[in-house]
Amino acid sequence: MAKYDVLIIGGGVAGITCALTLSSVENKFPWAKDRKYLIIDENNSDLLQAKLYNVPGVRQGALGEEVIRDMRKQLDMFKSIEILDDIVVRAEGSLNNFSVTTKSGKSFLADRLVLATGMHKFDIEGLNVEVLPHDKVMKPKKIKIKNKDLKVREGLYVAGLAAGSKTMFAIAAGDGAKVACDIFEEWTGKFAVAHDSVSKN
Ligand SMILES: Cc1cc2nc3c(=O)[nH]c(=O)nc-3n(C[C@H](O)[C@H](O)[C@H](O)COP(=O)(O)OP(=O)(O)OC[C@H]3O[C@@H](n4cnc5c(N)ncnc54)[C@H](O)[C@@H]3O)c2cc1C
Repeated sequence: MAKYDVLIIGGGVAGITCALTLSSVENKFPWAKDRKYLIIDENNSDLLQAKLYNVPGVRQGALGEEVIRDMRKQLDMFKSIEILDDIVVRAEGSLNNFSVTTKSGKSFLADRLVLATGMHKFDIEGLNVEVLPHDKVMKPKKIKIKNKDLKVREGLYVAGLAAGSKTMFAIAAGDGAKVACDIFEEWTGKFAVAHDSVSKN
């Protein structure tokens, strides 16, 4: 069974940003070499319904659908990340020992899990997380997963709307990047990010 350093459930804004941040260090630090990441996504992001005028760096009036497509393309330049279109139905385990099963019957192992599943539902069995009402949206019946600073427990993180964040692209993206940086810190014991400069390109 394939094993990943980090498996991200949900490939919307938070999940893809987390994956981009994780994979962007792949050639930059010895501790990042040979790490592998997987996103499993049902492909039903809220962004698919959006037309965007207030996301920094995104063309005014861009369709969310185009933006998701471009973000997925961005992942192609990194060899450490894979993306699978599927639905996670079951996840269990703990730090360094998670297992995940999809609707199509595939199974994976992972050291760490990131839940970036949005605010509409959380019906993944086996994880023993506390699902609460999302209190920062106008619409009824939206949910969040109980967490402290985007962490549910050791090895299990949550980002974006699933974490109870406000429904803004930039906030979901920030959560995804923060979870990735927090994981770097756990791996290295110190702060790490990947920044490329003009002079290197
Ligand atoms: C109509 C509309 C207009 C909007 N306009 C704006 C705007 O103008 N500006 C702005 O900043 N924000 C806007 N937003 C908000 C923005 O789209 C969200 O804040 C953002 O998409 C949240 O990102 P997320 O990753 O937390 O959740 P999502 O982007 O919703 O991603 C969650 C992903 O997880 C997947 N998933 C869920 N469960 C599973 C599972 N079990 N297995 C696999 N995958 C799973 C879903 O299919 C989805 O792809 C708008 C939203 C809507 C609905």
